Order: sequence, then C-alpha cells, then structure tokens
Amino acid sequence: MTILKTENLKAYYITEIFGIKRTVKAVDGVSIDINNNEIFGIAGESGCGKSTLIKTLLGIVKPPLTVLDGDVNYSIGDKKFNILSLSPRELKNIRWEYISYIPQSSMSVLNPVRRIRDSFKSFINAHKKIEKKEFKNLVEEHLNALGLPIEVLNAYPHQLSGGMRQRVTIALATILKPKVIFADEPSTALDVVVQRGVIQLLKDIQKEQKNTIILVTHDMAIHANICDRIAIMYAGKIIEEAKTEEIFKNPLHPYTKYLIGSLPKIGDKSYRVSAPGSPPPLSNLPPGCSFHPRCPYVTERCRKEIPSLVEARDGHKVACFLVSKEV
Ligand code: SF4
Repeated sequence: MTILKTENLKAYYITEIFGIKRTVKAVDGVSIDINNNEIFGIAGESGCGKSTLIKTLLGIVKPPLTVLDGDVNYSIGDKKFNILSLSPRELKNIRWEYISYIPQSSMSVLNPVRRIRDSFKSFINAHKKIEKKEFKNLVEEHLNALGLPIEVLNAYPHQLSGGMRQRVTIALATILKPKVIFADEPSTALDVVVQRGVIQLLKDIQKEQKNTIILVTHDMAIHANICDRIAIMYAGKIIEEAKTEEIFKNPLHPYTKYLIGSLPKIGDKSYRVSAPGSPPPLSNLPPGCSFHPRCPYVTERCRKEIPSLVEARDGHKVACFLVSKEV
C-alpha cells in the first residue's frame, strides 16, 4: 500500500541578484511511490538534489526553494493530505507524530545547554499532555527497547559520544512511533563500527514499529544492508529504481553500473572504475540526458532528448534510451 506518492515534482532554487536570475533545478520531475512498511533508499553523489528532495517531501519549502509542479501526497491510515498545502500549524501537528526526521548532525536536534531528559520533555509535551509518571514510563520503555541506558537522560549532549548522541536523536525521533521516518545521511559523520550500530538500530525500530523509513545516503553499502528498494538520483532526477537485490545484481543505467562497479569487493584487488568526469551543476544542466557528457554509450538522441523513467522489467524502472527502447 502506498504511503507517499509524488508525480513530476519540481522544486527549484530561484534567486535574482543584481538582476541576474539563477535557477538551480534540485528536484526536477521526480515521481515516486513509497510503500507502507518498507525501507526506501535514495542514493546519489553529493549535490544530486537528494537532500532538497527530502526537504520537499517533508514540506520544508522556504524561499529561494520554490515548488513549481507536483504534489506530495501522504496516505497514513485515514489521514490523507498533500503536505505542500498544509498550514504551518497543520505541519507542526503531523511532524514527529506522523512524519519524523533524523538529521545527519544530532546537534541540530539536541539543545547543547539542556539535559537529554529536557529535550524529551519538550518534544513530547509539544504533542501530548501526559503525567510525569506516564512520561517516565514512556521514555524509559522506549530507551530500553532501543538498548540505550536510562542514564543518558541526565547527560548533556556534549557528555555523550557522537554515536550515542545519534542514537539518542533516533530515540527522540521515534518515541511517538511516527509512521514515516526520513533519515538524511544518519551515520555519515560516524566511524564505521559506530555506523553499523546506528544502521542496525534503524532496522530494529522499523521491524518493531512497522513504519516506513526513507533513507538518504551516498553510501551504497548502507543501502545494500538495510533497504528494500532503492532509487538512484542524478542531477535532480530519479534515473533508476528497483528492489535492492535487483539493483545490485542487474543495474541497468550506465551511472548505476559505475556506482556499483566502484564498490570494493572482498578478495578482489582489481582496479575499480568510477564514472568519468563529475556531475553537472544543477544551475546549468546539459541538454538531453544529464548523464550524456559522462556516458560511454552516448548517441545523438541522448544529446537532444531527456529519457523518461519507465519500467524495463518487473518493478525495475530506468531512464535511459539504451535500455528502455523508448520511442
Ligand atoms: Fe547514456 Fe544515453 Fe542512456 Fe543517457 S540515455 S545514460 S547518455 S545511453
């Protein structure tokens, strides 16, 4: 069952300085269907528009970011809404209780001069009126379920390690059991061992709470580890989407092939080839397929026309003339 759907979503940064207009096409015609109770990954290099996509899906659209086309429709139980049409008050009411967000940096959520307990208090009180005892039970039960020591409640954020702070942030973002959780590079700032623990925590929460997680990271190994389906983003567009196993076994888009081909493999010491060149600036995209200046299979058509994202195999979509045989 679809919980989140967008069709041809376009969100651009539009600025005008000294009469010079600049348009950054960060989200350029994105259509996605995300299912209830799945972990959906969004992958791509830095600057491909994935963080702006998350912002737009969360309804955080402030100038210069402007939505030019498309809706962001949620269907959470009997609550159905286009998040882009909600008032700030309505947005506040659904945030954290229905839709929550785990940022890359825990310090953007935790107040450095307040104990963790106070962060939980103000967070819960903003959505529920509960007694002191109920608050204590709710928080302690949740921390226990997540394997976090109760003592963290007495600590200030700076007294915790980076990994523990990120776990506390995850605990905070999931305490009201939201149905949809966005996680934007949740483990990028952590070392590999701690990273694994944070990703496992997300997995456990999803298993227990049966919510939908939308995970954004450039790290394909994390996607392989946790996601049910993956969308690959390039230059503001989704260029491939499939089940995780299918993407890794049969990548169809040349860019995805490079992404997967450049991953290290145990025991294989051969040289890994990554995509030549670098991604185009979103303010000055090439005509036709945005990947054409880097693509070894480029044709005249690729230089002129933009390939649409179409189903090439069962549930496997791709935007490439080479594969889709689009007419
Ligand atoms: Fe390469 Fe053309 Fe496919 Fe774009 S459409 S990825 S340029 S083959």
